Amino acid sequence: MSYHAAFHDRITAHTETKPIVPVIDAHLHFVDFIQDSDGMQTLLQAMDAGRVSKAVVFGLPLKKKWDASEKKPPHYYLDDNSRCYYFHLTDEIVADAYRRLPAPSRSRLAPLLCGFNATDRYAFRDAERMLEKYPFWRGVGEILCRHDDLTNLTNEETARVNHPALHDIYELCAARGLPVLLHQNSTSVSIHDEYEHLDELEEMLQKYPRTQFVWAHCGISRRVFHKKYHEMVGSMLDRFPNLRVDISWIVYDDVICDYLQPKKHWLEAILGHPDRFCLGSDLCGHFEHLGRTMARYNGLLRDLPPKVRGLVASENAEALWFSPRPRKSKIGAGRR
Ligand SMILES: [Zn+2]
Repeated sequence: MSYHAAFHDRITAHTETKPIVPVIDAHLHFVDFIQDSDGMQTLLQAMDAGRVSKAVVFGLPLKKKWDASEKKPPHYYLDDNSRCYYFHLTDEIVADAYRRLPAPSRSRLAPLLCGFNATDRYAFRDAERMLEKYPFWRGVGEILCRHDDLTNLTNEETARVNHPALHDIYELCAARGLPVLLHQNSTSVSIHDEYEHLDELEEMLQKYPRTQFVWAHCGISRRVFHKKYHEMVGSMLDRFPNLRVDISWIVYDDVICDYLQPKKHWLEAILGHPDRFCLGSDLCGHFEHLGRTMARYNGLLRDLPPKVRGLVASENAEALWFSPRPRKSKIGAGRR
């Protein structure tokens, strides 16, 4: 069974179909890896049915290619040996669907742009163009940096959080008050006694204190782990006030929980930083199991005191992605 199918089975086996309190899904891809989507109406219906009040939605900057050598059409990036490539149109797909919605539905969504090549030093120009074209973007992401097999299957330089192309993106985001959601594995799949890629993130958090960063899945990916992972995440949050993390995809099941019950030391890490965690589904383009995916977090939500439960379920994401943006600043608005 593929990794993707195994994770899907894990979600669908979950018996609860909605979270115990209304939640904001802070990590939802409107398209899958071949840039298909169930569409906005299906998404909004799934949000209603799944007690998801609002969602942070974005495309996927990479598209899986169907090579001539592959007999069957791939859907997920791991399906076969075909490579992925940067797909700029992903932002237009999100923008088209968002613009067609009535205002009340639009107010439930925070669209992010991500359709640039994260290893192209002209990336900030592409991002700027998209920001000028549509005024509604609430942030940038998910930028896909060091991502084990996805990086290996991408026809480009290795994307990393401290790539020179991204420095200008971070400045642009600081100037416009746009948070940045990024994926960066904390370490490689073969090194588990140190964090091989963490210094790249630390460097950027230090260098761009005015940029708000959200570290997707707390830097976890398949086959990425460390015995004291919670200590590292807690320490990163202590050291960098401009950092937040999301609990999404496999970090909850594989690292935070034992059998869907959060481990004590993870609860302590969250209670120690109650305003820095938010929840996400990380669904890609298909929303049938949205309620069930977010209901996975019920074990955590039940264990948190009411005030922290509210923060993690929705208030942190509301403050970060849905509150009014500061006015544009000219300082550090990208290299010219
Ligand atoms: Zn994602």
